[in-house]
Amino acid sequence: MVTKDIITIDGPSGAGKSTIAKMLARKLGYKYLDTGALYRAVAWKAKEEKADIESEESLKKLLKNIVITFENEKVIVNGIDVSSDIRTGEIGELSSRVSAMPVVREGLFSIQREMGLNGKVVIEGRDTGTTIFPESENKFFLDAGLEERAKRRHKELMDKAQTEIALKAVTDDIAKRDTRDSTRESSPLKRTEDMFYIDTSKLTIEQVIEEIIKNLKS
Ligand code: C5P
Repeated sequence: MVTKDIITIDGPSGAGKSTIAKMLARKLGYKYLDTGALYRAVAWKAKEEKADIESEESLKKLLKNIVITFENEKVIVNGIDVSSDIRTGEIGELSSRVSAMPVVREGLFSIQREMGLNGKVVIEGRDTGTTIFPESENKFFLDAGLEERAKRRHKELMDKAQTEIALKAVTDDIAKRDTRDSTRESSPLKRTEDMFYIDTSKLTIEQVIEEIIKNLKS
């Protein structure tokens, strides 16, 4: 493996990771791996099966029977296209809860490694530079203020839901997820010294991509 060929992008919800990682991958001709979609897929399946997400046993069983694949930007769970169903606020919240369970993180570890080791890749999430590919030489941390991130996520949800969603509820939800994601014991969201930090609050998508490309080690 060439450690420079794995670009990791970590950061909190709404920092722009997905949009930027996807566009960057397209621009560089790299594959793109959205690790949040894996946790969302597990949350979706847990909801479908009314699984007890506090129970290690029930999560273990669920992980044994789940098959998650990415096909042309679609997320497929056991043959079902869940691409839009996993993008709701409810699944976002549930995914943050299941992702705090070590059994889920362990279960998804090798899937992420395998997907990443298969050629040049941009991988995006909360622990891609710390736990999944600590050996990567191209690590980035994207951040933005809570208000800005909540505004972005609110717009995204409104565009999809076509009903009124209160900005305050989205802000509270993101703040709660921030706390849970960065204080959990198992692979918390963490910015480390070897990550290049970018505050995206006042930058356009193109400017962020430019900044990443400028700082890539090649
Ligand atoms: O990035 P996204 O909002 O789709 O991620 C959903 C949830 O999955 C996050 O709130 C976080 O709790 C969890 N997650 C994680 N580790 C990752 C990616 C996502 O814990 N690498």
